Amino acid sequence: LRSPWLAAFEEVNEAYSTQVCSCCGAKPDSSPKGRTDLGIRHWICSECGAEHDRDINAAKNILAAGGHPRLDGGILALQGE
Ligand SMILES: [Zn+2]
Repeated sequence: LRSPWLAAFEEVNEAYSTQVCSCCGAKPDSSPKGRTDLGIRHWICSECGAEHDRDINAAKNILAAGGHPRLDGGILALQGE
């Protein structure tokens, strides 16, 4: 499953999917930002008040974008392979 392009995709996807609220689609100030916030597991959307587990929120965003073969690889990565 591992390949250079997939690794690059996961990195970009991680940066986006962890910051966007899977409930309302906002990218609120309260969401985890970049590598400094990688340790944050739970956050609350300041836009709609939804409580998020970082990884589950990311998975929902990926699923919402779904249908593209490359995204299936991303889901497998999130599940720890
Ligand atoms: Zn929200």
